[in-house]
Amino acid sequence: MHDHRKLGRELGLFGTDPLIGAGLPYWLPDGAIVRHSLEEYVRGLERRSGYRHVHSPVLAKRELYEISGHWAHYRDDMYPPMDVGGEQLVLRPSLCPHHALIYRSRGRSHRELPLRIAELGGMYRSELSGVLGGLSRVRAIQLNDAHIFCTLDQVEAEASAALAMIRQAYDALDIRPARYRLSLPGAGGKYVAGDWDRSVEILRSVLDGLPYDAVEGEAAFYGPKIDVQIADSAGRESTLSTVQVDFHQPEQFGLEYVGADAAKHRPVMVHRSIIGSVERAVAQLVEVHGGAFPAWLAPVQLRLLPVSAAEVPYAREVLDRCGNLRAEIAAEGSLGARIRDGRWAPFQAVIGSREVAAGQLSLRLRDGRRLDLQPVADALAWLNRAVEP
Ligand SMILES: [Zn+2]
Repeated sequence: MHDHRKLGRELGLFGTDPLIGAGLPYWLPDGAIVRHSLEEYVRGLERRSGYRHVHSPVLAKRELYEISGHWAHYRDDMYPPMDVGGEQLVLRPSLCPHHALIYRSRGRSHRELPLRIAELGGMYRSELSGVLGGLSRVRAIQLNDAHIFCTLDQVEAEASAALAMIRQAYDALDIRPARYRLSLPGAGGKYVAGDWDRSVEILRSVLDGLPYDAVEGEAAFYGPKIDVQIADSAGRESTLSTVQVDFHQPEQFGLEYVGADAAKHRPVMVHRSIIGSVERAVAQLVEVHGGAFPAWLAPVQLRLLPVSAAEVPYAREVLDRCGNLRAEIAAEGSLGARIRDGRWAPFQAVIGSREVAAGQLSLRLRDGRRLDLQPVADALAWLNRAVEP
């Protein structure tokens, strides 16, 4: 495995500046492409799975987190409040309370459940500077988050579907969990009172058939979790994806729906994240793939290499036809050096006089294999299929 901090700089994905601060990386153009591709993939997967996307602000009144329980149980990880015109505003430590309020913004019927609300949104964690590094531990986090509001009967199916989405995404990203963890409460006062046994039992059935470790002291303050753990290049484990069952916040926010019996009932909240924080997901992708991303994530998908200046106009014609394919022409330097420089690109095409005369293209894959000469239109159609997640 590669160290994403070193390779991330080499690949021009992200950087940091002491004037911005530790744990606050910025994304360079190629890194932003990887990030956007990842975000679009997750949004598409969520749309196809019945999620509706929302946006909510990264600031809220302190009172919101007093109600949710974050202020009492999670304050050490939050930034201090900002006084603004007699009000106290805080940077949010999670998206859950905002989504609970979106649920509560109008009356809900059992016919709307399960209601799946998703957001790729910012949240903030007051990490000490000593633990920060690259993209894997940051202070400003872009979280792939969602909350499913459902009946008690629906919890297990929803949690199972979320875990299935996580496994599907890992296949597309070509990454593997280090292990599955059932995160249980431990000793100490950081957990709310409630029906933990029932939530734990539900998550145990969701994990049935998968190898997992049950670990005490790793639950959220409001409920147990399934955590999908990954390992970095130094062998350190961290949580990327998670599925959680929560009876606490629906109670705190007085969430309700009208049942088939016309009476009011309390929904359950399932919290889930498919790829976790975008920062940590990209760090893992860099470490696992060493910069040779799956084609759909690659900043440059096709490099066109004209052998000499005579083939440059033809390369430009091909480039003009590339549409959404991320393609570039590399014309400077020796051909061998250009092929080596492009070793991270999934596809390259050397363009010589033979290609120009025939109006064709010969694709070279990252593993060194070469496809037969084919008409440009066929090659581009093939590439467009090859860069689908
Ligand atoms: Zn949540």
